[in-house]
Amino acid sequence: MNIVDQVRQAGVVGAGGAGFPTWKKMSAQAECVIANGSECEPLLRVDQQLMTLYACELVEGMKRVMQSTGARRGIIALKEKYEKAVIALEGCPGRDSIEIHLLENYYPAGDEQALVCDVLGKIVPEGGIPLDIGAVVQNVGTLINIHRAGGGAAVTHRWLTVTGAVGSPKTIIAPVGTSVRDALAAAGGPTVSPYTVIDGGPLMGAESTGVVRKTTTSLIVLPADHKVVRYKRKPIDQDVKIARSACEGCRFCTDLCPRFLIGHTLEPHAIMGAVSYQAVEEIDPLVISQAYLCCQCGLCGMYACPTLLSPERIIKACVESLKSSGAAPLHRRKVREARPERDYRRPTVDSLVSRLELEEYDVDAPMETKPLEVNAVCIPLKQHVGAPCVPLVKKGDMVKAGQLIADIAEGKLGAPLHASITGVVSDVTEEAISIRA
Ligand code: SF4
Ligand code: SF4
Repeated sequence: MNIVDQVRQAGVVGAGGAGFPTWKKMSAQAECVIANGSECEPLLRVDQQLMTLYACELVEGMKRVMQSTGARRGIIALKEKYEKAVIALEGCPGRDSIEIHLLENYYPAGDEQALVCDVLGKIVPEGGIPLDIGAVVQNVGTLINIHRAGGGAAVTHRWLTVTGAVGSPKTIIAPVGTSVRDALAAAGGPTVSPYTVIDGGPLMGAESTGVVRKTTTSLIVLPADHKVVRYKRKPIDQDVKIARSACEGCRFCTDLCPRFLIGHTLEPHAIMGAVSYQAVEEIDPLVISQAYLCCQCGLCGMYACPTLLSPERIIKACVESLKSSGAAPLHRRKVREARPERDYRRPTVDSLVSRLELEEYDVDAPMETKPLEVNAVCIPLKQHVGAPCVPLVKKGDMVKAGQLIADIAEGKLGAPLHASITGVVSDVTEEAISIRA
C-alpha cells in the first residue's frame, strides 16, 4: 500500500485545528513542503514540545510527504524562540537537506498564507491555496502522524495543552473522544467557578463541545466573565447594531489584517461600514465578496478594533450568507509582493497576551508523555473537513483500540475513525460513537 493510502486509512487530518483530510493534500504534486511549527496562538504549548520530543519522527513524516508530492525542497518553519526544538531538529541525523526557517514571535505566523509569504517570499493568489504557488503546508503534529501511519498506527490520540485557570497546566496525550471533564482533571481541574472552556486558541478557538477531538489543540479554562469569553459570547445582531454607532471607520482592523498586509483585497473596515447600513444582498458585490478572503484569525476584532467590535464574526456571517445564495468569489487577483508596511504592522504574541488579559495564564505546560487513561470516550463522527463518517459498529460490539469503527462514504472527502480505547460500544447515534472501557 502506498503512503497516501496508509495515511487515509489511519484517519490522519490536519492537526493544527483545521482538520483537512491529510491524504487529499498528499495526493497533489508540489515543489516544496513546509512544516508549520509556528504555533502562534497565545498559551498553546503543543507543537513546540512535539518538535523537541519527536524531532526525528517529524523529519521522517516530512520525507514521506516530499516523496508523495514529488517536492524537491522541504522546510521546517518554527519560531526562533523555540530553542530546544531548533536544537533537536538540527541534531536529527536523518534531516539531510531539509532546511530550517526561523520565524519571529508574531501573530498569526501560522496562517498558511502568511507563512508561505515569510518562508518563500511568494504570495498565494486571492482565493487560492499554497499549492497554487507549488507549496504544501503541513502542521508538525500531522507530519508525526503521517510517519506513524507509515508504520500502521491509526490516529487514536490527540496532543493538547490544558491550561488557563487549572491547578497544574500541562500538555497531555488524550484518547480521541475523552471528555473535557477528564482532560481538565488531568491538569488539576478548574480553579475558578463559574468557568468556560475554549477548545483551541483564545483568538480562533470556540467554546468546547465537551470532548477532545482530533483537531483539539488546547482546552483553555477561563472565568465565565473573562474578556475573551465575553467577546465570544456577544450575539452577532448586537454586534451589527453596535457597529452602526461605534464603528469609527478608523481602518485599524484593515491596517493590521494579515491578508490585507500580504496584498489581498480584504478591507474589513469597508465590509463593516457596508454591513452597518445595508443587507448583505444590497452591498456592492466587490466589497462584500472580500469576505471570502478572510482567514478568521480574529486579529481585527480581538486586537485591532478600539471599540471591540467583531469584524471577523460579521465577516464569517457574510460568507455564510454569500455561500447560501450561491455567490461566487469575485476576487482572484495574483499578487506579486506583500505591502511594505507588513514588516512593522504584525503584533507580537506577547502584545496579544497583554491585550487579551491573559498574562496570568501565560505559563509553561509541560508534556506528560504517558497517555491519559480514561474509562469512556465519545467519538464525534465529524471531526474533519468533508462529510461525516458512517458507523461500522453497533451498540454492544467489542472493539480494540486502533480498530476501524467508522468510515467515509465512497467518493466523499473525509477521514475514517478508530476506537481510541478498548471496550464495548455503549451507544451509536447520528453524531457520535461511545465506548466504555
Ligand atoms: S479575521 Fe480580520 S484580521 Fe483576520 S483575516 Fe479576517 S478580516 Fe483580516
Ligand atoms: S477597527 Fe473597529 S472601529 Fe475601526 S473601522 Fe474597524 S471595525 Fe470600525
